[in-house]
Order: sequence, then C-alpha cells, then structure tokens
Amino acid sequence: MPIYEYDCGGCGKRVDVFLKSVNAAEPSACPQCGSPRIQRAISKVVFVKSAETKLAELDPKYDKMIDASSPDLSMDNIIKNYQLDKPLTRDERGAPEF
Ligand SMILES: [Zn+2]
Repeated sequence: MPIYEYDCGGCGKRVDVFLKSVNAAEPSACPQCGSPRIQRAISKVVFVKSAETKLAELDPKYDKMIDASSPDLSMDNIIKNYQLDKPLTRDERGAPEF
C-alpha cells in the first residue's frame, strides 16, 4: 500500500495520503483542511509492507540468533549436558551434612 505525500496550497501543510494501490484515484482535497489545491509532492513513495512480507525478508541469520538464544531445554538434552545418566562419583556427592 503506497503512501504519497501531498503539498496543500490551502493550509500549506505536507500531508501523507494512503492509497489502496498505485492505481487508486488521487485525493481531490486536502485531508487536513479540505482545500482542493492539493498536489502530489515529488519526494518519496513509501510502501507499507505486511508483517508477512517483513518476516519473509528477514535475514536468515536471525533464525540462527533465535536458535542460539533459546537452548534446547528438553529433558534428554539436560540429562546429556549434565551427565545425569551417569552415577555420581563420591566427590560429586559431597560430604553428608549433619
Ligand atoms: Zn490543506
């Protein structure tokens, strides 16, 4: 959805106008003051991207960053990382507390 900037000869403001498509009819009056003396500014066209499009355009490295920031918390992985499947040695058990 394109946003065009218009310069208004009535109120002198530059206004952003959303158009449903690039072929949509141009506004006939200033949305601020209603003046018909409105002219498209030859500055920029901004396209509003959908969240879906933005997601699709994300750099794939972000996926890896997300993966790296959310470690595998499955029980199998925890048991493996902390070697919980092996019996504790005497030292690891520690001295009994009384
Ligand atoms: Zn105006």
